[in-house]
Amino acid sequence: MNRRDALLLATFAALRPARLLAAPVPVLPFVMTEVAPGIHVRPGVHEEATVANQDGIANIGFIIGDAAVAVMDPGGSRADGERLRASIRQHTGLPIRYVVMTHMHPDHVFGAGAFAADGPVFVGHARMEGMLVQRGEFYRNSLADLLGIEEAGDYAKPNLFVADDATLDLGGRSLRLHAHATAHTDNDLSILDEATGTLWLGDLLFVDRVPALDGSILGWLAQTGALRASPAKRAVPGHGPALVPWPEAAAAQERYLGGIVRDIRAIIARGGDIEQAVETVGLAERDRWLLFDDYNGRNVTSAFKELEWE
Ligand SMILES: [Zn+2]
Repeated sequence: MNRRDALLLATFAALRPARLLAAPVPVLPFVMTEVAPGIHVRPGVHEEATVANQDGIANIGFIIGDAAVAVMDPGGSRADGERLRASIRQHTGLPIRYVVMTHMHPDHVFGAGAFAADGPVFVGHARMEGMLVQRGEFYRNSLADLLGIEEAGDYAKPNLFVADDATLDLGGRSLRLHAHATAHTDNDLSILDEATGTLWLGDLLFVDRVPALDGSILGWLAQTGALRASPAKRAVPGHGPALVPWPEAAAAQERYLGGIVRDIRAIIARGGDIEQAVETVGLAERDRWLLFDDYNGRNVTSAFKELEWE
């Protein structure tokens, strides 16, 4: 823009009421990638929820079988879920039979309403509903404050609960679901696509973005260790690239979580307190993770409370 145009624009702007001035915030592009035959992933951006990203910050997607489609986390908001549904319809007209929810965090599940008219089975961990009862309203209000009530959407209560293991049949394609003991949260599901040996991990695995602890640090390390035995050769993390090699991609998260456990135990052993822990623990990892400062302190606080009772 040249100087004259800028002046004209400024004059024009000065004559208009402020609320008309706000240009619509451009929404980030919605880009799917097919990481294995029939497995489509939208990698989330490494940000907190904003109007521009519509809370599209988690990795979400879908898996297509011969007879039906399974949504793999319906998205972070109604707007995010509607874009995911539109993407499915660009690839297939098959019925959307399942909406699998890997855990209750809003960036993974608030797009559920976009699929209500499809009448799918909403699938979640047996403990998911209890956590939604505790936190659902808070999540809904927080997201509505940010995006507006229509765009924010809502979660769906699961109507198929997984307490240990379950198999979903998409027609010629089986998804094996496992309900984990408390790890990232107390309601984490992992899903193995047997046809391609791909493990969909939700937030059991963070890559690049610093892990966020909302369950048990020892449990998370134990569940990650157990998942290493999976026959899968690749995985879809909850945050990070659309596809990573498995189990190699677990190493960085294990190093980060394991370092926190080791350092907190040392502080507790010499009689130190939680403030000392928050000031020092994990900082060696600071340059290795995105959004580190937003989560490390919380992770250390949560881990300290768990480990001081050992
Ligand atoms: Zn999460």
